Amino acid sequence: MTSHSKLNTAELQAMDAAHYLHPFTDHKELGARGTRIIERAEGVYLWDSEGNKVLDGMAGLWCVNVGYGRKELAEAAYQQMLQLPYYNSFFQCANPPAVQLAKAIADVAPAHMNHVFFTGSGSESNDTVLRMVRRYWDLKGKSGKKTIISRINGYHGSTVAGASLGGMSVMHEQGDLPIPGIVHIPQPYWYGEGGDMTPDEFGVWAAQQLEAKIQELGEDQVAAFIAEPIQGAGGVIIPPDTYWPEIKRILAKYDILLVIDEVICGFGRTGEWFGSQHYDLKPDFMPIAKGMTSGYLPMGGVIVSDRVAATLIEHGGEFFHGYTYSGHPAAAAVGLENLRIMRDEKLIDYVKQEAAPYLQEKIAELAEHRLVGEVRGVGLLGAIELVKDKATRERFPDKGAAGTLCRDLCVSNGLVMRAVGDTMIMSPPLVISKTEIDEMVGKIWTVLDQAAEQLGV
Ligand SMILES: *Cc1c(COP(=O)(O)O)cnc(C)c1O
Repeated sequence: MTSHSKLNTAELQAMDAAHYLHPFTDHKELGARGTRIIERAEGVYLWDSEGNKVLDGMAGLWCVNVGYGRKELAEAAYQQMLQLPYYNSFFQCANPPAVQLAKAIADVAPAHMNHVFFTGSGSESNDTVLRMVRRYWDLKGKSGKKTIISRINGYHGSTVAGASLGGMSVMHEQGDLPIPGIVHIPQPYWYGEGGDMTPDEFGVWAAQQLEAKIQELGEDQVAAFIAEPIQGAGGVIIPPDTYWPEIKRILAKYDILLVIDEVICGFGRTGEWFGSQHYDLKPDFMPIAKGMTSGYLPMGGVIVSDRVAATLIEHGGEFFHGYTYSGHPAAAAVGLENLRIMRDEKLIDYVKQEAAPYLQEKIAELAEHRLVGEVRGVGLLGAIELVKDKATRERFPDKGAAGTLCRDLCVSNGLVMRAVGDTMIMSPPLVISKTEIDEMVGKIWTVLDQAAEQLGV
C-alpha cells in the first residue's frame, strides 16, 4: 500500500479543501461540506473511505462501460508501460497499439468511416473537429464555410472550443463564450419545451430550426452541424421520433458536414456500437472518448468519414494540429483490450437484447409515482422528470431543488444518480446484471417516496 491510502477521511478532506480545485464545483460549498472520497470499486459498485457501498448508476461519468475491477485492462496498461510507456505520433512515428486501435475502431464504426485522429479527451476531440471541419472546407476551396451550428443545452466538453460548441448558458456566461463562428439552435426537448405541440410535431419543429438557421446564415457560410444522438449532460434528452429523420432530410439538401458527438452514446450505450447506428445517421465526424477505454485511462479520438479523410490525404499539406498524447501507447493498449472485452463478451448484444429492455421496462413503471412526470430511456440511458403536477407538467417553484434532494437521497440510499435541474438521470455500466438493475430501481422507488414526503406531495 502506498502512503496516500493510509490517510483517514478527515485528513484527506482537509488536504483536499486546502489544495484541490475540483472541476464543475462550487469550491466554497465543497470546502465546507467535505468531499466524498471514493477508494475502490468492483463491477458496478463503489466503496467510499467510510466503507459505504454504492451502486454506480452513472458508470463514473458515463464511461466505465465494462465495469470496474477489470484486471485485463490493468494488465494491458502495465505490459505496455514496461514495453513502451510513451512515444509521440508526430514526426512520422507511430506505436503498435495506436495503429491497431485505429483499425479496430474503424472495424466497428459505420462502414463509411475508416480513419481515426487520437486525442486525450472528449473536449479535445471537439477542438479537433472544429479545426478539421474548417481545414476540410479550406481544402475544398470554400473557406467561407466556417460557421458551426450547434444546439442550446448540448454538451461538447469544457475547453474553449468544446464549451463554445456546447450550448450551456452558464458556461458561456463565465467564459465570454461562444467564440465567433458558432451559433446555437433550440434543442429537441419535448418534455421541457414542447408546449402544446405533440412530441412528433415538436420534433419536426426543432429539426426545422436547423434549416431556418442555414437559410439565415447562407449555405456558403455554414461548415457543419454538431449534435449528440441523445443529449447526455443536458439531461438524457431523447429526441422525438420525428427529429432525426427531419434532420436527415434537411442535411440531404445542403452541402454541410455532420458531426455526431458519440462521447456518451459510442461504445455500446444505446445497444449499438454507436448512437449514429441507432438513429441511422451518416456523420462525417464522430468525436469519441469515455467508453473508448471504459475510463481506465484518459483517451479520446475523432472518427472521420472517407470523404473528409480522402480530402485531407489527397490534397496533402501539413495539418497543424495534434496533442502530445495523441495515440498514447498505454491508453491505446487499454482501448484495444476494452474493445476485445466488448467483442468477446458480446456486450453490445447483451445491452440490446437483455439489459436495456429490462432496465427500460423497470424504469417505465416509475412513471406511476406521484412525483414523476415522465420516464424516458434508450439502451442503458434513462431519465426521470420530477414534477409538482403530472397532468400539467408543472415544475416545483424552486428549480433544481427536487433534483438535488433526490440526488442526495440516492447517495444516502447507496446509489449514484445525477440530477440535471429536476431531471434524474442514469447511465449504469453496460455489464449491469438484471439483479443489479432490480436493486437500482428498488432504490429509486425508495428515493422517490422519501423525496415526495419531504416535498409534501
Ligand atoms: C463528456 C463529454 C464530452 C467531453 O469529454 P471530456 O473527456 O470530459 O473532455 C464531450 N461530448 C460529450 C457528448 C460528452 O458527454
